[in-house]
Parts: sequence; structure tokens; C-alpha cells
Amino acid sequence: MSIPSGPSAQTPTVRAYLSLGSNLGDRWSHLRTAVDRLRAGGPAAVTAVSQVYETDPVGGPEDQGAFLNLVVELAVPVGLDPYSLLEQCHRLEAGAGRVRTVHWGPRTLDADIIWIDGLSLNDPDLTVPHPRWRERRFVLAPLAELAPDLADPALVAAAGGEVRIVGRV
Ligand code: AMP
Repeated sequence: MSIPSGPSAQTPTVRAYLSLGSNLGDRWSHLRTAVDRLRAGGPAAVTAVSQVYETDPVGGPEDQGAFLNLVVELAVPVGLDPYSLLEQCHRLEAGAGRVRTVHWGPRTLDADIIWIDGLSLNDPDLTVPHPRWRERRFVLAPLAELAPDLADPALVAAAGGEVRIVGRV
């Protein structure tokens, strides 16, 4: 399995979007560190980072705190194994000391692959596009900044959850 080429045979990369979220511990620091690590290296270069949105939790325990969320755009080399991106997401989560306890519960860092241009993958370990991206305003609002072709205003308005812009990492 490898990422297919973009519209032009000369295109060496395709776009990918990661959603990063934190609602436990120093949320700003977890997001900043994750973005720094993505910028420092890995299989794909960071090409854009959205503003940071504070968002109410969707699903999971009722008493968990608000999330900070952002979306990162990557330039993924054509032919890259998408599972290497997933491994990078897991490394970012582990680096933030994430402990998996309650499903959809509080977490220091959640890193999900939302979209990779031209790729559709239906594996429980890696489903792309992410199965719930179109239902979540905390994904769509930052995504709309970077990729209005994927997240148009009507889609953002139709999604669930309140979001407010709170700054940049
Ligand atoms: P979560 O607890 O929400 O972080 O879910 C993590 C699990 O979902 C991981 O073990 C992944 O293998 C799986 N998964 C499936 N599709 C994706 C995706 N698009 N991005 C990140 N994780 C995914």
C-alpha cells in the first residue's frame, strides 16, 4: 500500500492533514511540542498549521475539560507508506505521555490522520479519510482555514460542537 500520485505526474508530494488535540495537562505545551516534532523531521514536511481552537468535548465522560485543537498540513512524498504517518502520530502521542484509560476520555495528545489526497483506506488500524471528520467542527473549522476545498462553510456549519479561536502555537 502506498500513497498514489497527485494530479500531475511531476507532483512529488500530496497533501495530508493531521488533527491534533489535547485536554489534559499543559494543553498548549503538548500541541506546541507535537508541531515542533513534526517540523523537526519525519516522513513528511509541515507546510501549514491552523490557528488553535478551544472546543467542548464531543463524546466520552461528561466532566472532562475543554480541548485545544488544531490541524497540520503535510506534504507527503508520493509512494510513502501511510502507516508510517500513523506511526508518527503514535510517537507524538507517546511523547506527550498519553495513557489510554477511558475510551474518548481526557488525553494529553490525540493525533489523527484526517485526510490524504487520493487515498481511501478501510483498515480498522488506519481508516482514511478519518471516519468521523465530517461530523466534527473541531476538525472542520481548522481544516477550513488550510483546505477550503475539503471543508466548505456549509459543512463546517452543519457539524456538531462549539469552537472558538484562542491563538496560535
Ligand atoms: P484513538 O483512541 O481515537 O486515538 O484511536 C486510535 C486508534 O485508531 C489507533 O490505534 C489507530 O490505529 C486507529 N485509527 C484508525 N484510523 C485512524 C486515523 N485515520 N488516524 C489515527 N488513528 C486511526
